[in-house]
Amino acid sequence: MAGTRLTGVAASEGVAVGPVFVHVVKELKPERETIPEGEVEEELGRFRAAVEATAEKLAATAEKMREGGSEKEAGIFDAHAEIAEDPELHSEVEGQVRALTSPEAAVIAVGEEFAGMFAAMEDEYMAARADDVRDVAAQIASELMGGGPSGLESLAEPSVILASNLAPSDTARIPPGMALGFVVSGGSRTSHVSIMARSFGIPAVVGVGEEIEDAFGAGVVAIDGTEGYAVADPEDDVISDFEQKQRKDAAEAAALEEYKHADARTSDGRRIEVAANIGSAEEAEGAIKWGAEGVGLFRTEFLFMKRPDLPSEDEQYEAYRNVAEEFGERPVIIRTIDVGGDKDLPGVDQPEEENPFLGWRGIRMCLDVPELFKPQLRAILRAAPHGKLRIMFPMIVDNVELRAAKEILDECRKELETEGTEYGEVEVGVMVETPAAAIRAADIAPEVAFFSIGTNDLVQYTLAADRGNERLTRLQSADHPAVLDLIGKTCEAAREAGIWVGVCGEAAGEPALIPRLVELGVAELSMSAPSIPKAKKIVSEL
Ligand code: PEP
Ligand code: MG
Repeated sequence: MAGTRLTGVAASEGVAVGPVFVHVVKELKPERETIPEGEVEEELGRFRAAVEATAEKLAATAEKMREGGSEKEAGIFDAHAEIAEDPELHSEVEGQVRALTSPEAAVIAVGEEFAGMFAAMEDEYMAARADDVRDVAAQIASELMGGGPSGLESLAEPSVILASNLAPSDTARIPPGMALGFVVSGGSRTSHVSIMARSFGIPAVVGVGEEIEDAFGAGVVAIDGTEGYAVADPEDDVISDFEQKQRKDAAEAAALEEYKHADARTSDGRRIEVAANIGSAEEAEGAIKWGAEGVGLFRTEFLFMKRPDLPSEDEQYEAYRNVAEEFGERPVIIRTIDVGGDKDLPGVDQPEEENPFLGWRGIRMCLDVPELFKPQLRAILRAAPHGKLRIMFPMIVDNVELRAAKEILDECRKELETEGTEYGEVEVGVMVETPAAAIRAADIAPEVAFFSIGTNDLVQYTLAADRGNERLTRLQSADHPAVLDLIGKTCEAAREAGIWVGVCGEAAGEPALIPRLVELGVAELSMSAPSIPKAKKIVSEL
């Protein structure tokens, strides 16, 4: 195994060497459903020990979060520890074990039963507890099956994370500073794990395939996210190679320093706004340090994903207000919640779908679930007086959806007006990320203040190539004539209607594509914050 090389897609620049943490998604399938009569007492003992271990781990995670200043997240883990120790849950499970059900099967069944009861409650807060119960029951079952939780949330040593699959909700659970790098079996440059890695400046190699399992037993991994490979248990000469690369990267970063806070202007005087994509209010400050002139895409679904329930209108208001204030006069585009596809939402009951990327996603879900959509729109309107906020709707296909969304926004304005709650005006734009929106951009343009092209989805829907499939690398770039034509068409429609166009898909930060996007008429490029200085340099040299 020493020296095993894993090759994949260079998903996030940079190199790192560190201890391995393997994240395995375990299927919770009890090995046995029933137990013999003579083993009841022993199995009850195993159940109690598993409860104790789970509660202890949850309490320890809460403590760590609290020490790290994440009070809100700590509260979630405290609540989970309480659920693990709930006497009613225990007596139900113990009753089933006495009736000869194995404790792991019993705890999963009782968890489901309790979750079902919570889900049926009228009270929104109580209904949202269903997932907490299910989650805790799964952790106890997992402990009984010898695994315990994967531990991503309680990672205490900075590590290179190896995983067959890393969902956005997994990435969101990792404590800050604990991920040195990601090596993932599946995925592409526009999978969300890659996007998040780039935002945080964490090296990532994705799409390495099943060979990743060869490295699961390694102690240390060296990862090169710039070149797209990783080495398990590297020899000393490889480690010194990596150290040299780290020094080179540091020198390059120093050379880009002068561009960070400069305007990006082409030689013929065209000013291009270079903004950041963020996924939480906490990223705003860092983005400004990287030279962001605004936020071109605030992926708000990450606010919803880090927790088992939905954030209230007030909590969202706080988050949007913080970002608005942080950026002051500089514009912040808040994209309304875009779940579905590869992004689950713990607080919302999402049906299993055959084709999630072609399913109930983004604006489609929001239009159907006003209790999800309206608190967000109200929170944005309320935060608007504190800065320069804009709203952007994702996954728009036509004006039917756009008008329906604007109508709900109007309803929210009226409600706030009637209540006498302070709110402000926001410009409304749409993401152009479906071929339909690009082809008919001329219909949509007169009804919005701006377009922002989501190349990640535009590529996958135009080229019929799943953005997460590691076998389709050639079809995962916006540098394809079919995609560039659609971008050109969108820019043309925008010019006609007198509105501006940005790009907030990953193409905006790709050095090879920036000249083409600028040439096509794009006025704003929004990207992972660490990519900003280089993008500004490229624009300045055009
Ligand atoms: C896109 O599709 O290009 C985009 C920016 O949105 P997301 O990556 O969040 O789907
Ligand atoms: Mg998208």
